[in-house]
Amino acid sequence: MKTDRKEYQREWQRRRRAANPEKELAYKREYRLKNAKRLKAYDRDRGPLYRAKNRIELREYHRLWRLENPERIAGYTRNFRTKFPEKAKAYSAISKAIQRNRLKRQPCQVCGEFPTHAHHEDYSRPLDVDWLCTAHHHSVHRKLLTKSSDTHTQIPSVPPHMNKNLHQPPPVGNNEQTGSAS
Ligand SMILES: [Zn+2]
Ligand SMILES: [Zn+2]
Repeated sequence: MKTDRKEYQREWQRRRRAANPEKELAYKREYRLKNAKRLKAYDRDRGPLYRAKNRIELREYHRLWRLENPERIAGYTRNFRTKFPEKAKAYSAISKAIQRNRLKRQPCQVCGEFPTHAHHEDYSRPLDVDWLCTAHHHSVHRKLLTKSSDTHTQIPSVPPHMNKNLHQPPPVGNNEQTGSAS
């Protein structure tokens, strides 16, 4: 019964609004003015909130998009290579070294988690990397960005709490030698 009543009310309101379009518009305008601040904040947060709520669906959507638009991806890659040749070389050196078992993916040097990215402090030493999980990798780059507007190759610094971890020898002993040998 309760739902019937609600539906009836909704229908009644809908009809009333349809009968007085000007009144409805004025009301909407007033509502927007009164709640401008809140609505603006809502608009600002809508994107990140939406993405956080729909993370899995979005991931699938992007995966399909990549499959359906290989030429667009190739274009992005080309652009990146011409814009940042040193970075691109360093990335391909890493993936080749991993494929050939010369480099082993390590757990995050801060929290010990997988999966990890290879973070370069200096792109001219392509196999000299710090292994960082997505979150800690992003935090390093955020810190680097705030410290300098220039490329991060010039600033090898990491957040202070990370220093002790970064300067420890890598957990698997062999990697350093094989890395620097090439
Ligand atoms: Zn981490
Ligand atoms: Zn990095």
